[in-house]
Amino acid sequence: MADIENKAFHTLDKAAALEALESSEKGLLPEEAAARLEKYGPNALPEPEKRSIVMRFLSHFHNTLIYVLLGAAFVTLLMAHYIDTAVILAVVLVNAVIGFIQEGKAEKALDAIRKMLSPTAAVLRGGRRVTVDGTEIVPGDLVLLEAGDKVPADLRLIAAHGLLIEEAVLTGESVPAEKDTHKAAEEASLGDRHCMAFKGTLVAAGEGTGLVVATGQKTEIGKISDMLANVETLTTPLVRQMAVFAKYLTGFILVFAALMTAFGFLVRGMAFPEIFMAVVGLSVAAIPEGLPTILTITLAIGVQAMAKRHAIVRRMPAIETLGSVSVICTDKTGTLTRNEMTVASIATAEEVLTVTGTGYGPEGDIKNGDRKIKADDHALLPEIARGAVLCNNAALQEKDGTWVVEGDPMEGALLALGGKCGFAVEETQEKYPRLDTIPFDAKHRFMATLHEMEGEKRIFVKGAPERVLDMCAAARGADGQDKKIDKKYWLKAIEEIAAEGQRVLAVAVKTAAKNTAEIGFEDVESGLVLLGLWGLIDPPRDEAIVAVKECREAGISVKMITGDHAATAAAIARQIGLEKTQRVVTGAEIDGMDDAALTKAVSESDVFARTSPAHKLRLIEVLQADGKVIAMTGDGVNDAPALKRADIGIAMGRKGSEAAKEAAEIVLTDDNFASIAAAVRGGRTVYDNLKKAIAFLLPVNGGESFSLVAAILFGLTLPITAVQILWVNMVSSVALALSLAFEPPEQQVMKRPPRPPNTPVLSPFLLWRIAFVSALFCIGIFAQFTLAQAAGLDVETARTMAVNTLVVMEIFYLFSIRYTHGTSLTFEGVLGTPAVLIAVAAVTVLQFLFTYTPFMNVFFGSNPLTFMQGVQVVAFGVAVLFLLETEKFIVRRFVKKEKPA
Ligand code: ATP
Repeated sequence: MADIENKAFHTLDKAAALEALESSEKGLLPEEAAARLEKYGPNALPEPEKRSIVMRFLSHFHNTLIYVLLGAAFVTLLMAHYIDTAVILAVVLVNAVIGFIQEGKAEKALDAIRKMLSPTAAVLRGGRRVTVDGTEIVPGDLVLLEAGDKVPADLRLIAAHGLLIEEAVLTGESVPAEKDTHKAAEEASLGDRHCMAFKGTLVAAGEGTGLVVATGQKTEIGKISDMLANVETLTTPLVRQMAVFAKYLTGFILVFAALMTAFGFLVRGMAFPEIFMAVVGLSVAAIPEGLPTILTITLAIGVQAMAKRHAIVRRMPAIETLGSVSVICTDKTGTLTRNEMTVASIATAEEVLTVTGTGYGPEGDIKNGDRKIKADDHALLPEIARGAVLCNNAALQEKDGTWVVEGDPMEGALLALGGKCGFAVEETQEKYPRLDTIPFDAKHRFMATLHEMEGEKRIFVKGAPERVLDMCAAARGADGQDKKIDKKYWLKAIEEIAAEGQRVLAVAVKTAAKNTAEIGFEDVESGLVLLGLWGLIDPPRDEAIVAVKECREAGISVKMITGDHAATAAAIARQIGLEKTQRVVTGAEIDGMDDAALTKAVSESDVFARTSPAHKLRLIEVLQADGKVIAMTGDGVNDAPALKRADIGIAMGRKGSEAAKEAAEIVLTDDNFASIAAAVRGGRTVYDNLKKAIAFLLPVNGGESFSLVAAILFGLTLPITAVQILWVNMVSSVALALSLAFEPPEQQVMKRPPRPPNTPVLSPFLLWRIAFVSALFCIGIFAQFTLAQAAGLDVETARTMAVNTLVVMEIFYLFSIRYTHGTSLTFEGVLGTPAVLIAVAAVTVLQFLFTYTPFMNVFFGSNPLTFMQGVQVVAFGVAVLFLLETEKFIVRRFVKKEKPA
């Protein structure tokens, strides 16, 4: 192949472009595509540069607490307290290593999730439509574009029907550019190359076919390196608030620490080394540096769990918003139903036929009652079947004995019907070639194609039946003659088929003038002859029925907003278990309502039919004005504004367009309503776990700091030394808090109402909890220390008991905090989760090492304890658990209104 890189494809005509790339109107053969993939490499842009490993590791030393500690290490070195210096440095290092490993894991998880979103593209290979991974596209491929697609490579268009492409990413022009197939002038700027489509731009309307002229880095967007995808960071408003909170708290503590140093030195007359170490201990105790990291990891684990349940979070704040969602607006096809369509009935001007056979294979019969009908002997069936096969963009393929659809399942079902009528799909399409198309659009709800047929030109139209009915003057009778249309008869037939939950489509035909080469709306608006109706079944998903019920229990109402017919929508809504299905509001009715009337209608009905994307937007607006938090699903390019406007936009990963996915916060990889319910559950769980981590760590910090401040203020011996606090905070507390990230949902998680938006994180209850537990911890530490000293134990042993008491109290507090909304004193509660048990086991082993190994005794100034001293330590933990459970009980019982954190 000649040098394609420097060719100005926009100046070549179609044939020359195809020739230059050694391709044809049937695309490349699969073997040739594979060879070119080897030669040109994958169609991918280089990954945005990541920080190097060294920088990532060093970044873990970049926080205030570490600076304080490094300063402390330096001062201890000057004071010749070498052991302290060594311990501080060791802990700083261990902490950075743990942070580095955890961060690496979180990033990997995010990377894997991002990969799940990599786009696919429909291409023609050897004349067949196939869906391939976007990275596998090669120069010479023919790419099929439709509304909502992201253009996967730079293309020379060889077919374009009403094609509009948004090129703002490249040209800055916000109005979509009209595309055609005529060559452009050599000097035309990117925005004026109307016969080209560029990688990364978005198809706003219409459809087209393009020849790939450049892939990957060779594309126009590939040449501009700073336009690469921005990377989603692992943060939410809650995490950000906590990071800010931690920063302020740190500043406050540093000032406070300076004051305490002055106080200890000047007022209490403490020696400098002593007061210095006490204040270092206080800083370590009080600065919640570990908190933001733990929250980030909790988030990463939550996001990963949600991805496993088919919900991919594209924007992290959505996780929090999910917990507040009070209305889910969902579409029907594929989300509540399986999107496995089968034509079950055909209505003609005089009879209603049934069609048997499931799946997309050609096996099945057409029957009138019990009588089998041969399509060839029927006056209407062959033309109806031709309409099904020709006015169609899908393809069927047999894979391992089952037939699968490439493209829209509804169109797949129509191809299967063609097969059942005896028409081989590809042969028919070749025999009657398509000359032009009016692509389907949810706005006009029909699709039309122009064909060359036995010397004449014929237009087939299929679409929403009321729409097509309006375009027809006549209907074809059983004798093959066209007669004036009896609208009443047809409307009744539509209602009857739809009432069974079947989706109804109408098919019509028109003979066009011999010289017609293109068709526009004016060609199909009138003079069509109605051939008949198709009724398609699409069974509801069993799991959606369960999920709708679950949502209702969680205080979330579910509204079905569909483009389908009112009667079909109502029938499916009833099968799914939606509550208010008596009144179905249609798009036309919405148009006639003011906001007040619409608000009332929304509260009275769960089903909205024959809606367009603009109606979705209005529904969101009135619901939001009513104080509701909305999750809204969407798939088409026109859904993007509604997805953006909704509090949570949810796009369909399979049938959804790239435009919808980019506008959405969440993408469902299985298009299933049950995954929305699972996402809500996941979001609520992550939020709970974030709060649990906060509620766990802050009181630990509080308890330690109070003890140290009290000791300094009252001139008492420190119950825990600085390096001991370092040990507890950077080893035990972190391990225990991390286990909370793996907490499964609490039983009640989908039984409580949505969290009102804007509830503060540090709710009065949480603040109370922090104060209460801090006090408990402080008292526990001091009481144990004082008891030990009163019993005549040396200060090292007393401190070892105090440290172990603190850790044991933490462990018991961990069990308590796992159940915010119920008691922890259950069999399940005591058993814990694997993560909790591993953390507890690890911390226990570490505490044994701390207490009994000689080198730890030297490093941390600890002393081995006797068995009875150990029992005394554990007794304090048990006491704390009972006190906490009593508090929970009292709150549950008497302070009903205030929801526990
Ligand atoms: P939902 O919004 O629940 O996914 P939907 O798929 O019916 O439902 P739209 O895609 O907006 O919503 O379709 C609206 C109507 O347009 C359909 O009910 C059908 O009558 C008609 N229609 C859909 N797809 C096609 C198509 N490819 N060709 C012709 N008509 C179509």
